Amino acid sequence: MNTRSLLGLFSSDLAIDLGTANTLVFANGKGIVINEPSIVALNRNTGDVEAVGNDAKQMLGRTPGGIVAIKPLRDGVIADFKVAERMLNFFIKKAHKRKRLVHPRIVIGVPSETTEVEKRAVLDSAYRAKASEVYLVEQAMVAAVGAGLPVAEPCGNMVVDIGGGTTDIALISLSGIVYSRSLRVAGNQMDDAIMDYVKRQYNLLIGERTAETIKIEIGSAYPVNETASIEVKGRDLVHGLPKTIQLQDAEIREALKDCVTSLINCIRAALERTPPELSADIVDSGIVLTGGGAMLRNLDQRIRIETGLPVCIADNPLTSVVMGTGKMLTNFKLLKKVAIN
Ligand code: ADP
Ligand code: MG
Repeated sequence: MNTRSLLGLFSSDLAIDLGTANTLVFANGKGIVINEPSIVALNRNTGDVEAVGNDAKQMLGRTPGGIVAIKPLRDGVIADFKVAERMLNFFIKKAHKRKRLVHPRIVIGVPSETTEVEKRAVLDSAYRAKASEVYLVEQAMVAAVGAGLPVAEPCGNMVVDIGGGTTDIALISLSGIVYSRSLRVAGNQMDDAIMDYVKRQYNLLIGERTAETIKIEIGSAYPVNETASIEVKGRDLVHGLPKTIQLQDAEIREALKDCVTSLINCIRAALERTPPELSADIVDSGIVLTGGGAMLRNLDQRIRIETGLPVCIADNPLTSVVMGTGKMLTNFKLLKKVAIN
């Protein structure tokens, strides 16, 4: 064991999954210490942060005039630098519980199409939060590590990480990304599609959080064995009054049809661009799904049918990225290989 890894045992090194929907923080030796929505509530007048994470999510869609709830990473790119930095800073401090900082090493998983300027902003905010060393890694790569794929082997591994703002498809071999593609169709767009559907079919306005609940409760990508339904409340567009309706799983499948089709087309495109040797590997190893969107009912089944390949869902799809990033804290050799800064 070298000095750095010995020190690592006593340090407060952190691994962060800066997701578009959820930010997770893993502390060396402790496991996941933070798992909260990537949302910040700001005071419109003073610019002060009113709440971050869970507390801010409660305010989403319910904020009074003076407060605005912002998702700084809405589409997988850092839409709002300043707010993203404050959120990161808040979570780093919270992870350390205001203990005296021992200048931690921080590894941060960023969305794959993060620009140079955005990377700089993430690095700067981590350094400002008193990190001694900061490494950035691509979320798709660490998702594969977290899902237990043998990324360092000379064989092809395909991972599809379906998050809130983006779906990241990556083909990995020898600790490198052979092909990757980021698609702005993921959980948020599914929620939007459900809101549109309910508005079109029922003249009913529902909020983002209600749409997400509908998706999680009865959403699916392929017919399910047992039909399901859900009672939904919203505002009637014609009378302007609150109204309750009943939605069936088949309707939601219809609402999500376009999102699911785009996702599958993108996976197909990735497979078409896969070099033949690696293609041969994927016939055996298949595709691994990570991210919250992987839990959409029967999405794995649908992809299996459409591609003819084995498809499996990572054991804990919502934590694959942070667990993979966490592994980098103790595997410095791999970190050096996959770090993008
Ligand atoms: P990100 O990495 O972008 O932060 P996550 O991997 O945390 O995203 O996934 C969040 C997304 O997963 C959200 O859009 C959420 O609605 C969706 N999600 C969570 N659970 C389920 C479920 N059971 N079925 C479908 N979608 C889900
Ligand atoms: Mg993610």
